[in-house]
Amino acid sequence: SLTQRLSGTIDRLRGRGRLTEENIREATREVRIALLEADVALPVVQALVERIKVRAVGQEVLKSLTPGQALIKVVRDELAAVMGSQASELNLNVPAPAVVLMAGLQGAGKTTTVAKLARHLKEKRKKKVMVVSADVYRPAAIEQLQTLAQQVDVLFFPSDASQKPEAIVKAAIDDARKSYVDVLIVDTAGRTSIDEAMMAEIKALHAAVNPVETLFVVDSMTGQDAAATAKHFGAALPLTGVVLTKTDGDARGGAALSVRTITGKPIKFVGTGEKTDGLDVFHPARAAGRILDMGDVLGLVEQVEQQVDKDKAAKLAEKVAKGKRFDLNDLRDQLEQMQNMGGLSGLMDKLPGMGQIPDHVKNQVTGKEIPRQIAIINSMTKKERRNPTLINGSRRARIARGAGLTPADVNKLMKQYQQMEKMMGKLGRGGMKGMMRGLSG
Ligand code: GDP
Ligand code: MG
Repeated sequence: SLTQRLSGTIDRLRGRGRLTEENIREATREVRIALLEADVALPVVQALVERIKVRAVGQEVLKSLTPGQALIKVVRDELAAVMGSQASELNLNVPAPAVVLMAGLQGAGKTTTVAKLARHLKEKRKKKVMVVSADVYRPAAIEQLQTLAQQVDVLFFPSDASQKPEAIVKAAIDDARKSYVDVLIVDTAGRTSIDEAMMAEIKALHAAVNPVETLFVVDSMTGQDAAATAKHFGAALPLTGVVLTKTDGDARGGAALSVRTITGKPIKFVGTGEKTDGLDVFHPARAAGRILDMGDVLGLVEQVEQQVDKDKAAKLAEKVAKGKRFDLNDLRDQLEQMQNMGGLSGLMDKLPGMGQIPDHVKNQVTGKEIPRQIAIINSMTKKERRNPTLINGSRRARIARGAGLTPADVNKLMKQYQQMEKMMGKLGRGGMKGMMRGLSG
């Protein structure tokens, strides 16, 4: 999964503290491969990766104190943005009967979805529903709809197969009006592949019945083909939404992203089984999570967002930018923030790849060493914290005693501090541009 890939990349990024352009190239390569493996269409992947790259080399990630998480957050944000911001229901705000037209290839799941939607509207939205079939080519298709209508207990308008689809549906609309029906769902014929005759027929039907919702029904398991089909239907009809069927058999989830991007229309429902209760309202964030398989990571990101003290982080960034020295007070602030994130350890363990990480590294990340490090800084004088060069051998021994630790522990902390100070100094002197120059040159 993308999470597994990113966790590898992130582990490499973590500890270096900052992202470089090279890291970002590496990480976005992983994102790209993972999306392709999830069966997202290539142009969609390219556009998405481009946006992620632009944002990743921006301040948000480069300046972050936790670049790995910042990058995951960018990926998550962009995926969620593509998926749409929130769940959207059917629009029924028109004089009754509201006409819902289903379009899609044969076998996509249109007829099944008509029954599922009828049941949903009846049970969840307390609507009086009628269904009608405009599939005049296959008598079996009309019978299939009749059987399903009986199953879910909604009105069925019998089609006269000798008539044109427009005439059948117009007759159904008249009947629905007389019967005080709230919603009329129109099933249509599909071909096994896109052809002009089918497109002309559904366009004519659309023009004749003026539906408030025109739903494109597409089989999620058709992957790359789903993208091509979406393009054709989207060009022929003013779609208002998408129903993605057979998601129960599709582990990859990429079709959602492709279809949504290509049509620009919200996915309103997903089919989750053959039975008439196998329909769910589409939740964009959940679908994004499914692609990333990052339930835990989402939790992680949220926790980081909550617990990082944004003011302190901003102050530090400002200080560094002004070229002021990174001192032990700053290090303590950072350690305290990390300690506040101590709750991450539980989540950390759930992340893929954590098993391979040595304990001492894990302890750093999960905060087990942090209280000792803070104790060491607390046992220093104010002067020492501001001017760490004062800390000689005898002061180290005193500080260790004060913290109840050994001089070796103090040495370790000082080494860490010196590394960070060096890095921050570089940032401050050269600014962001200088750093990038330094890395590329
Ligand atoms: P249509 O040709 O577009 O009307 O497609 P149908 O509604 O006849 O469905 C084609 C096949 O897909 C049938 O066997 C359905 O049971 C099956 N099907 C439809 N939706 C789903 C779904 O969400 N999950 C699963 N597993 N099967 C589905
Ligand atoms: Mg059908």
